[in-house]
Amino acid sequence: MKKITKHLFSLLSLLSIMTISSAEMNSMVPMPKVVKVNDYIYALLGPTELPNNSNRGYMVNSTVVVGDKGVILIDTGFTDEIGHHIKNIIATITNKPVTHIINTHNHGDHTLGNSAFENVKIISSEKCKTAIETNGYEWIGIAESTTGLKLPNTKPVVPTVTYAEGKHTNITLQGVKFEFWVPAGSHTPTDMMVLIPKYEILIAGDILVDTIMPSFRDGHVKTWISTLKEIGDMKLAKIIPGHGNLMTTAEVRELRKDMIKLYDGVEVGYKKGLTDSEIRKTLDLSEWTKRKHFDELMGTNINRTYLEVEEANF
Ligand SMILES: [Zn+2]
Repeated sequence: MKKITKHLFSLLSLLSIMTISSAEMNSMVPMPKVVKVNDYIYALLGPTELPNNSNRGYMVNSTVVVGDKGVILIDTGFTDEIGHHIKNIIATITNKPVTHIINTHNHGDHTLGNSAFENVKIISSEKCKTAIETNGYEWIGIAESTTGLKLPNTKPVVPTVTYAEGKHTNITLQGVKFEFWVPAGSHTPTDMMVLIPKYEILIAGDILVDTIMPSFRDGHVKTWISTLKEIGDMKLAKIIPGHGNLMTTAEVRELRKDMIKLYDGVEVGYKKGLTDSEIRKTLDLSEWTKRKHFDELMGTNINRTYLEVEEANF
């Protein structure tokens, strides 16, 4: 009897340890879908809902590249808490520390998790660095208002290594060869894409999104369309977008077609002297209605396109 009690006791204490550790692992932030691209590269596909109280702002895709002595992490999430969550998930993949962070653009959902990582080099486009310096706190405000959380530990952390617009730079980090590509402003003026040529992998940030609506809020539609042409013509094995599932170059070419059609449709309406809300009624939006967050984003996207058409026709 005594022995059984003892066994029961140790079983119970084991269970309680397991409960504590799983509670620590499973923070209140939802789990991403972890896609093993190959032995060295993992895509952490975040939820595709807009930031809210139950996802605690977690909505971004991150990419984990395991190098010789450390990890290169691309995009870090919307809050310090999400950054720590991503760090914990990386620890289940490798015991190597994160030594480099790459931010694909300045938007808070991709950069505000930077604060969870210490002793890292943070890499981005030049304009991304400036934008984080200028708008970092504004993005914390957006994170707090959309999630209803107070975020005292979330601070903007600025990149220290930057690359100029229009450049392709080849660089080796932790034994892995990368190509950094800073296109003319597309999803934002601050975009930088990451290629891993050996495996024909492109990590695109929000220049590409799958399943959900792309956001034109800070975008430039015409140059974005040109960037999509370049991507669509590349030979790529895997494309990791900023949100949603992995994509193919065929899907990139489809997105480009939809964006051209939208731009041209807005331009036709503009030339007839219509307002953007009148133009909306003339557009065939059937391809866009299939995407998540159509209702929340389509109006802004048409308005942004209208302003760009107006500027181009001035
Ligand atoms: Zn994003």
